[in-house]
Amino acid sequence: MTVERLKQAESKEQGKISGDYCAEFVDFIKQYYQTNKTIALHEPCFIGNEKKYLVDTIDSTFVSSVGEYVDHFETMCADFTGAKYAVATVNGTAALHIALQLVNVGMGEEVITQPLSFIATCNAITYCGAMPVFIDVDRTTMGLSPTKLAEWLALNGEKSDRGCINRQSGKIIRACLPMHTFGHPVDIEPIMEVCDSYGIVVVEDAAEAIGSQYKSKHAGTFGRASILSFNGNKTITSGGGGMLLTNDEQLAKRAKYLTTTAKVGHQWDYYHNELGFNYRMPNLNAALGCAQMEQLPVILQAKRELAQLYEAFFSNKHITFLTEPDNTLSNYWLNAVIVSDKQERDEFLNRTNHAGVATRPIWRLINSLPMYQHCQTGNLDNASWLADRVINIPSGARLPQSAYDS
Ligand SMILES: *Cc1c(COP(=O)(O)O)cnc(C)c1O
Repeated sequence: MTVERLKQAESKEQGKISGDYCAEFVDFIKQYYQTNKTIALHEPCFIGNEKKYLVDTIDSTFVSSVGEYVDHFETMCADFTGAKYAVATVNGTAALHIALQLVNVGMGEEVITQPLSFIATCNAITYCGAMPVFIDVDRTTMGLSPTKLAEWLALNGEKSDRGCINRQSGKIIRACLPMHTFGHPVDIEPIMEVCDSYGIVVVEDAAEAIGSQYKSKHAGTFGRASILSFNGNKTITSGGGGMLLTNDEQLAKRAKYLTTTAKVGHQWDYYHNELGFNYRMPNLNAALGCAQMEQLPVILQAKRELAQLYEAFFSNKHITFLTEPDNTLSNYWLNAVIVSDKQERDEFLNRTNHAGVATRPIWRLINSLPMYQHCQTGNLDNASWLADRVINIPSGARLPQSAYDS
């Protein structure tokens, strides 16, 4: 055989191996979820008091912006995460908008963030009239890289009385917004250190990270403020919803005020003394959120067990299953694997989705989207590398049958 034909045979053989592991993977998933129906990427589990609390809000008529479930939900989130204050909002994006506004991100300023995230991270920056600056991620966390951040700031950041100035654009870099990708905690401590030394405030996008910990502290309790999301695809859901977390009493008070139309307390007078927002979470959503918080430990445990099964499944294959970074505990919101290249990624996506198993590529880099193409970026080697290779695989918790019977 010629060398050419040998090479062809070899690549066919590789294709076949890849086909085999795809089939094996599909069988493995169907076995795990014990179904032949289409398997979603993530589905909510309602196994507790969800219906009871929802009916309760309807019976009480307090379904909207006033009601005691909102207060309960806030207390539960503060207790669970260890944050001193929690303020519920209509969704995570709204919480992020308010968090950035409350750390004074303003018109014409800049916020450092990662290019690998859900679009909401950058949209919230834009709602403040500010612009993102994209700095690379680490391959291990898929979140903002503290070393790349330090390198970029050493070249471009300059401390001044007004804040940190970007030498290239002349604008103020007001904040840094790292994100805990798929629930794997970002390397937050060194990020805090670098940002502190330049006078840049840190807000954490912990939308995906309820139940995740960095050095035994809950993700989202390191920066000045952070947010959680309770959208239907997240670890637990309130239908739609978000939560702003902070240890700063003043910031928490302002957050509650601004999210409730900035109305000055009075029995009947409609006096609003600044521009506020209608971002308050309805009681109906909070009721669902409270019931879900009660189930969170069980759900986290089931997700961890699934991640362990995935880790074992992929351990003898050429594919890397992403595990929690050192010194952290991940909630394994969305499980992810890294394949060899883009071609293999697309083959895997095709085969699995055709077989009724939902798998998805990681997001496109945000700086490649029309609204953000003009933004400044550092070197994005790791983000680009990951964008071509990371695939999310089914991650919904499968609870023991007994959980559904009760
Ligand atoms: C889900 C999510 C949000 C926003 O949450 P919504 O509740 O859908 O508005 C923000 N950032 C990230 C990284 C997310 O995954």
